[in-house]
Amino acid sequence: MYDVIVVGGGPAGLNAALVCGRQRRQVLLLDSGNPRNAPAAQMHMFLSRDGFPPAELRRIAREQLTAYPTVEMRDAAVTEVTSGPHGFTVTLADGAMCRTRKLVLATGLVDVLEEQVDGLSEFFGRGVYHCPFCYGWETDGMSLAVLGHEMPQVIQALYVADRFSKDVVMCTNGYSVTESAAGHLAKAGITVEEAAVTRIEGEEGAIRMVLADSRVLRRQGVYYGAPTRQHSPLAEQLGCQMLPDGCVRVDECQRTSVPGVYAVGDAARLESLPFPLDFVITGAADGARAGVWLDQEIFGEDVDFGH
Ligand SMILES: Cc1cc2nc3c(=O)[nH]c(=O)nc-3n(C[C@H](O)[C@H](O)[C@H](O)COP(=O)(O)OP(=O)(O)OC[C@H]3O[C@@H](n4cnc5c(N)ncnc54)[C@H](O)[C@@H]3O)c2cc1C
Repeated sequence: MYDVIVVGGGPAGLNAALVCGRQRRQVLLLDSGNPRNAPAAQMHMFLSRDGFPPAELRRIAREQLTAYPTVEMRDAAVTEVTSGPHGFTVTLADGAMCRTRKLVLATGLVDVLEEQVDGLSEFFGRGVYHCPFCYGWETDGMSLAVLGHEMPQVIQALYVADRFSKDVVMCTNGYSVTESAAGHLAKAGITVEEAAVTRIEGEEGAIRMVLADSRVLRRQGVYYGAPTRQHSPLAEQLGCQMLPDGCVRVDECQRTSVPGVYAVGDAARLESLPFPLDFVITGAADGARAGVWLDQEIFGEDVDFGH
């Protein structure tokens, strides 16, 4: 019986394991090894690690966890979790089962890329960027395109034009934007290109967007705020309450609606936030919060000091 099983070894899960390990909790960290920022060579907005390779951050975090003898790490995917009166049973892809008192879901999100555009997945994170907080500084003053036609993508185009570039084209990929969106884009000096994008080619810093009518739009960078989905169905399987945007609803202590289950990182958020903060440092902070509060929950159960 573990005190806590952490599912997911990105920054959120790694920090939850660190906090719990330091409190001598029996921890099992399970990770299937496919973090969201895997395509990115660098990460930003993490104090003292700005521009650092994210894979290196994970490697160091795992290395440092080996100092704590009660922390066990396995490269394994979790396929099922069931709850019982005394905790949870976690099933791994190889059929192995482990039992735990508390569970931390740190399984992250997946960017669901438009399949009709050839090359999009190849350039995602390397010329096609999801987020101006993560990449805005690096694309400052560049000729940019923003791919999409939905309101969040229109807002992304307006934001990028406001902060980083006066040369922005909104590529709606065969769709139209609403009249009101068109008005805002025009006011911001953003050109709208409605032709479908069939292919993205070139290299980072010199992207060619091949349009359905064979024209080629040359841009130094492309923004694409893709829709996201949960990386893992475990939260839904457990019956955790979800928010309309697909995130797991958590409280200030990272508790989900299911007792004993915490959720952290990109997968989860407070309902009161205007939009999710999907960053490495906020994921790590979530992990710290979950680690502290679940440790205190176990302490309260074991000592039974009656409050
Ligand atoms: C291209 C790109 C660049 C980015 N750049 C930045 C940046 O510069 N700065 C920044 O702050 N943020 C950046 N981000 C966002 C950042 O990647 C995320 O906020 C961060 O990775 C979230 O951490 P996490 O621990 O919640 O999830 P993840 O890092 O996605 O880790 C989740 C882990 O859980 C594992 N997992 C999922 N399901 C299971 C399962 N069933 N069993 C076992 N393991 C499972 C996955 O394999 C994965 O290893 C970027 C994102 C992208 C897409």
